[in-house]
Amino acid sequence: MGKRRSESKKRYMSILMALQYGKCFHCGERMFPCQHRTDGRTGLLEATIEHIVPKAKRRGLDWKLAVLAHRKCNVERSDKPLPRRDVTRARALASEAQTIYSEEM
Ligand SMILES: [Zn+2]
Repeated sequence: MGKRRSESKKRYMSILMALQYGKCFHCGERMFPCQHRTDGRTGLLEATIEHIVPKAKRRGLDWKLAVLAHRKCNVERSDKPLPRRDVTRARALASEAQTIYSEEM
């Protein structure tokens, strides 16, 4: 991942963090910002990118079609598809975040 892309991904994540009031998309509990830990420990309550479309069905670089969820909740969901009502909620969030993101550019 290039530096520019990782910077924009970080920016996008912080927009989502604000839109989600710092809460996990799945369980609604508080998340911690991504720490990019170097000690090798996994931050289970850390915010991670939760893709709306499972990896197997994804094409290209659509990391912006995503919301934030705890690492532990993301791992629990694994590659299962989101229930339809969650997809609707996630798409609404992602589209709002993308609007804010593109207005800042
Ligand atoms: Zn969670």
